[in-house]
Amino acid sequence: MQSCVFCKIASGEIPANIIWQDDIFVAFSDLSPQAPVHVLIVPRKHTVSLMDCDGPELLGSALVAVQKVAVLLGVASDGFRTVINCRDNGGQTVPHLHFHLLGGRFMQWPPG
Ligand code: 5GP
Ligand code: ZN
Repeated sequence: MQSCVFCKIASGEIPANIIWQDDIFVAFSDLSPQAPVHVLIVPRKHTVSLMDCDGPELLGSALVAVQKVAVLLGVASDGFRTVINCRDNGGQTVPHLHFHLLGGRFMQWPPG
């Protein structure tokens, strides 16, 4: 999608610190990190939100991508948090589906 910032990162049109990528997903550092490790994993194909995904294929492979990035960044054994903010009440600010991977410190619960 032409005006979408995450589509532009996925296509290389705007720069980001790319951590990992394959044919389906791109993982890059969050611009405003909330933890020592804060990466966004996004599908290359523009998909607005979690509620705009059909079927288990994309969602399942996204979580496998999260596993890969967690291992790559060394946060798998200590643990990490994966967050999907969905639509307005979920606090989603970028309307392109993304999985936050937060790690490198203890995560409080509940979230704000
Ligand atoms: P949301 O609030 O939609 O779940 O998360 C959007 C995330 O995208 C935020 O954590 C924000 O810091 C990050 N973000 C927004 N614009 C950019 C950008 O241009 N580049 C990068 N790397 N991250 C961005
Ligand atoms: Zn997009």
